[in-house]
Amino acid sequence: MCRVIALANQKGGVGKTTTSLNLAAGLASSGKKVLMIDLDPQASLTISAGFQDPDAIKNTVKDVLMMVIGDEEIPKGFGIQHVRDNLDLLPSNIDLSASEVSLINVMSREMILKNYLELIRESYDYIVIDCMPSLGVLTINALTGADSVLIPVQAAYLPVKGLQELVKTIFMVQKRLNHNLSIEGILFTMVDRRTNYAEEIVQGVHGAYGTDVPVFSIEIPLSVRAAETSQMAETIYDYDPKGKAAAAYKELTQEVLNYGC
Ligand code: ATP
Ligand code: MG
Repeated sequence: MCRVIALANQKGGVGKTTTSLNLAAGLASSGKKVLMIDLDPQASLTISAGFQDPDAIKNTVKDVLMMVIGDEEIPKGFGIQHVRDNLDLLPSNIDLSASEVSLINVMSREMILKNYLELIRESYDYIVIDCMPSLGVLTINALTGADSVLIPVQAAYLPVKGLQELVKTIFMVQKRLNHNLSIEGILFTMVDRRTNYAEEIVQGVHGAYGTDVPVFSIEIPLSVRAAETSQMAETIYDYDPKGKAAAAYKELTQEVLNYGC
């Protein structure tokens, strides 16, 4: 196992799911064995991975969490769906929304996902966790179980306030729950270089966080083709292999690989 990477930002619609799928698929095509975990009851990652009706899936991440809480033995491969060569998915569906409530009264509630990850981490090179847009107990579970966190940020407005809250939460998790958590970096998504404000935003975030939090030099460009992939249940490499978004996600994959283990 190399690394468990959580993709987190409590702001909705910033490219967490698109980046989870395309990073995971990129790592898988480089020959790494990858598991994606959908930790969002909206199940966008599950849908993007080709499961059109997530609510019809019987065993999901919610069942796994409940089995950990109930101290039940989890059979090998339980709930895991095979997506393509080297790429698996632990899916989610709307049932996961109940887990936020169920977890509230559980002892060591922040550690539940970590306990599961300890069981399976040796079966994979990378595990990519797609978080929901909140800083609730499920996202804290992801940050507690992960080795690093990647923060997609949409470069369409100055998101400093939201980022401050997120960075504060990450530092808090590092201090209290997971000393090993590192920050993979802030990744700008949906960047439209035709506008001046994109540059201002990027520079503003570099200025505000560059010393505490790394910022990827690679940016994901705004791309209609990338937006279309979420409906197509395809990766950007399959849907628009020669496009600029595919090239950017390939570079991101390479940078994550270069980061080492
Ligand atoms: P949520 O917080 O709801 O889980 P998210 O952070 O996971 O959202 P995505 O679902 O990945 O964000 O992306 C939000 C929307 O933006 C989707 O419709 C997606 O197709 C679109 N999108 C993602 N990346 C790009 C891009 N590079 N260019 C244009 N549109 C994009
Ligand atoms: Mg999402």
